[in-house]
Formats: sequence, C-alpha cells, structure tokens
Amino acid sequence: MRKILIAGNWKMHKTQAEAEQFLQAFLPELEKTDKERGVILCPTFTSLDVMSKNLHGSLVRLGSQNIHWEDSGAYTGEISGAMLLELSVSYAIVGHSERRQYFGETDETVNLRLKAAQKHGITPILCVGESKAQRDNGETEKVISAQIEKDLVDVDQTQLVIAYEPIWAIGTGDTCGSVEANRVIGLIRSQLSNPDVPIQYGGSVKPNNIDEIMAQSEIDGALVGGASLDPAGFARIVNYQ
Ligand code: PGA
Repeated sequence: MRKILIAGNWKMHKTQAEAEQFLQAFLPELEKTDKERGVILCPTFTSLDVMSKNLHGSLVRLGSQNIHWEDSGAYTGEISGAMLLELSVSYAIVGHSERRQYFGETDETVNLRLKAAQKHGITPILCVGESKAQRDNGETEKVISAQIEKDLVDVDQTQLVIAYEPIWAIGTGDTCGSVEANRVIGLIRSQLSNPDVPIQYGGSVKPNNIDEIMAQSEIDGALVGGASLDPAGFARIVNYQ
C-alpha cells in the first residue's frame, strides 16, 4: 500500500504570527481526517520553530522548502539538515521549479540535496515537471525522465516522495487534467526501482479539483501552493472524498 501524503508549500508567505493563526483554525478541522492520511506543512524557515511547538501531538508533519548538502560551512542563505532536525522537520522539498528557475538549482545540486536529506533521516520531496514550451514541443516524457534519472543517482528510493508539478500549472489556475497527470505519474513510476514511492501531483490544486485528482489510480497525494494558505481550503483538500 502506497502512502497518501498531502503537503502544503507556503513558499514565501506567512509570518510566525500568521502561521500560528493558521494552525489555530486548521488543527481542529484535522480531527475529522483519516489518520492514515499524511499531512505535511512546509512554512518558511522562520516559522518552523513556532510551528513545531504548536504541532506537538498532531497528525501534521513539518517540511522545509530547501536543504543544503553540507552540514555547515560558508554557504550564505542556506540551511543544513542538522539545523532542520532541531526544528522537528521530517520532510524537505527539493528541486522545486521556482528554485530551479530563479536560484540556479540544477539536477546535480538537487541530487546532492536529496542525499543530504536522507543522510539526516529527512524524507525529501523531489519536484519534477516540464515547462509550457517543453510540453508544446512534445518533450514532456523526455524532460521528466531525464530529471528522474539525473536527480535520483544513488538516492535511496525507500525514503523518498516525488511530486509531479508541470511548471505551466503552478500558480496559474491552469491544472493539468487529472487523467494526464495520472499518465505522467505512471511514467515516472515505471522508471523507479521502488514502485511504492508516493508520487504527488502539484499545480493549481484547489478544494474544487482535489476529489477528481485523488480519484486517479497513480496519484498518491498533492503538493499544494496557493490553496494551502487558507486553513478552511486546505482542510477541505486534506479531507478529500
Ligand atoms: P500552486 O503551487 O498550488 O499555487 O499552483 C504548487 C507548488 O508550487 O508546489
């Protein structure tokens, strides 16, 4: 049985006070949630501490939005696995398309970050996805399989989550059809040595499309950006039918 994991990626949103307010509204809603459903919140680094204190005893696990491959060193603006562990982080998003696009993340650095997360017992959530131009040129399969191949060199597939996030569907309201997302996720799975790796879909997941997305056989969860900022909306997503 593959694990179901619904993760919220807050990106660069919410102060500590706003993060606490979110939890006050969100946590009571989670009492209705099937305990087998994994729920992950990935706030900014500055909210991890306050969140870890407020989440004590809850179903929610904490994730970071990045992790560096060294334990410490002269890497201005980065954060290490040891630092994240102190804040009870158990997941780390790695290779999000915004990091690949704006911060020079490459398949090589993604690979280093994945291995570093695993070394610390943190489960990485590897993001892969094609751009609009690549999709229009019929390169979706080629791009995704190259990312999977390069990113996963020497990565342990028993401690891994993958998110298929077509770049053109992120933050645009333009969801990839659930049947198409299911097809690409099936292709990703066929390339893995461990078929039980949970594979999420991400890109404009909302309360009104989550049921259809989760009804697909290959999709094991969602990585949710914008819609995870609203406690009632994210609770609806987590409590999908
Ligand atoms: P979105 O973002 O849900 O706002 O499209 C998804 C993501 O970037 O992980």
